[in-house]
Amino acid sequence: MSLQVLPQVSLKPFNTFGVDVQARLFAEAHSDADVRDALAYAAEHDVPLLVIGGGSNLLLTADIQSLVLRMATRGIRILSDDGSKVVIEAEAGEPWHPFVQHTLAQGLSGLENLSLIPGTVGAAPMQNIGAYGVEIKDVFAGLTALDRQTGTLRDFSLEECNFAYRDSLFKQEPGRWLILRVRFLLDRAAPLHLEYGPVRQRLTEQGIDHPTATDVSQAICSIRNEKLPDPAVLGNAGSFFKNPLVPAALVAQLKGEFPDLVAYAQPDGQMKLAAGWLIERAGWKGFREADAGVHKLQALVLVNYGSATGLQLLHLAQRIQKDISERFHVDLEMEPNRY
Ligand code: FAD
Ligand code: NAP
Repeated sequence: MSLQVLPQVSLKPFNTFGVDVQARLFAEAHSDADVRDALAYAAEHDVPLLVIGGGSNLLLTADIQSLVLRMATRGIRILSDDGSKVVIEAEAGEPWHPFVQHTLAQGLSGLENLSLIPGTVGAAPMQNIGAYGVEIKDVFAGLTALDRQTGTLRDFSLEECNFAYRDSLFKQEPGRWLILRVRFLLDRAAPLHLEYGPVRQRLTEQGIDHPTATDVSQAICSIRNEKLPDPAVLGNAGSFFKNPLVPAALVAQLKGEFPDLVAYAQPDGQMKLAAGWLIERAGWKGFREADAGVHKLQALVLVNYGSATGLQLLHLAQRIQKDISERFHVDLEMEPNRY
């Protein structure tokens, strides 16, 4: 067995909140064989297996009594290219943003709006990552996953993944599917998505009227760098709450009391509320208790100023949920995966 299993490893460097908990056992998978070794090791020693990527969507609230397997498999390959459409496949452990940059350097568009999202390719389908009006479901061509219940490989098509807003089959069946590699359908000349948030405005400020996909990526990186805390500097897991989808009638009622409420109509008739607006309006922006806080610039992001525990962050999140429910009659759902 080539897999190296280490006892009692701190997970602080392996989660972007920087929460210091111990993994009972820890290993890194560099190949499919390592993944199978890890499954065999966990079964033989009767310990659960927890798969992680970049740890950018985790809230660790206690020591992890599992074998934690960090996906570190690498490899990017073009599977087909008809001169216009390209199917490109990446291994689960490939870091997401460098992969996006690699596709742009090949002249391929489709992933530019998803620039600068931390984490790995293999975790991206878990919550159908999205930003600036694009989700991976929009460019998804398939993935290969290992069924941990049977040990068999399965290829998933777009329809089989049940992708929805920050959701997928893989999130709905936690611990069952270990994603090994993901395929994307990219384009040499796809239309760009510029109408979301401040993207077009940033390009105009830069004097760019006819942007390329790389221009869009760079504009989005500059916006994100201004608004979002860098986990290397201030621990966080991005947005801590999903934007709630609520009935239009509730929005109409709330608008009576809060005329500047931010809400977006959805194709199914529901409305999406900006959770960050609700939290800011409730006065939580910049709140800090011990080392757990709400970011000063972006109320949707909880931060660890240094030594916050996962439980302190969780308790803060629960206080915010209760307050938002009482003030606005809206239930906020936490986005990070809690262990
Ligand atoms: P991890 O946090 O390591 O794991 C997340 C979940 O996936 C866990 O349940 C884990 O068990 C599971 N998992 C990981 N790898 C695999 C695998 N190979 N097979 C099966 N299960 C697996 N998200 C967005 O959607 N849009 C954004 O714009 C965005 N911006 C962010 C900005 C910042 C600053 C931060 C810190 C986070 C942001 N996120 C965003 C959240 C996060 O980056 C994404 O959800 C990312 O895809 C998580 O990847 P990861 O490799 O870090 O996953
Ligand atoms: P923003 O641009 O300030 O917008 C605030 C919220 O309004 C966003 O959450 C977004 O919802 C929604 N919104 C804005 N324009 C919209 C439009 N034209 N149509 C529908 N909804 C719209 O948001 P931000 O916090 O700076 O983030 C920018 C983008 O990056 C967003 O897409 C956000 O989801 C993504 N992001 C995600 C995370 C994460 O951890 N999940 C972290 C940072 C940024 P949506 O979130 O549904 O897009």
